[in-house]
Amino acid sequence: ALPVVAIVGRANVGKSTLFNRIVGERISIVEDVPGVTRDRLYAQADWNGRNFLLIDTGGIELADADEVSNLIRVQAELAIDEAEVIVFLVDGRSGLTSADHDVARLLRRSGKPVVLGVNKIDHPNHLASVYDFYELGFQEPIGISSEHGHGTGDLLDAVVEHL
Ligand code: GDP
Ligand code: MG
Repeated sequence: ALPVVAIVGRANVGKSTLFNRIVGERISIVEDVPGVTRDRLYAQADWNGRNFLLIDTGGIELADADEVSNLIRVQAELAIDEAEVIVFLVDGRSGLTSADHDVARLLRRSGKPVVLGVNKIDHPNHLASVYDFYELGFQEPIGISSEHGHGTGDLLDAVVEHL
């Protein structure tokens, strides 16, 4: 079976954008149900000849604020159960939030390898904000722009090191 790589993080950090960037296709379906966006959940991907199954754990997101914290927990637990490597994605523009700390705690406890991606670093001038995320206690945070593609190669290099 292919090794599984899961993208985890709170809503709007850019999980689906990163997923689409890695998979190389733009597929996401906005359902005709208020507050529900269904994106593609799984796709096969490869990097430097290493094949893996990529999961966007945020593929189904509910807009209802009361559901959000439970949903992130469920997503993180799913990733912990299924994944060989977890890509923990945070938002370099909004900075650290308590939800990031909650997810980090679950991921640390799992003992699984975690690659921390700091997204929305669209310009080198934004790189300084990457350092704030050392506080989460993972290995070196990697600044990326899922929208522009900057840094995503470095992130994938770090991912496949663990496969
Ligand atoms: P998800 O909820 O974690 O899946 O986040 P999405 O992929 O849906 O992205 C949330 C918002 O962030 C969208 O408006 C994206 O266009 C935006 N976004 C994603 N990646 C980047 C990035 O690298 N830079 C910037 N500036 N915006 C981004
Ligand atoms: Mg999404």
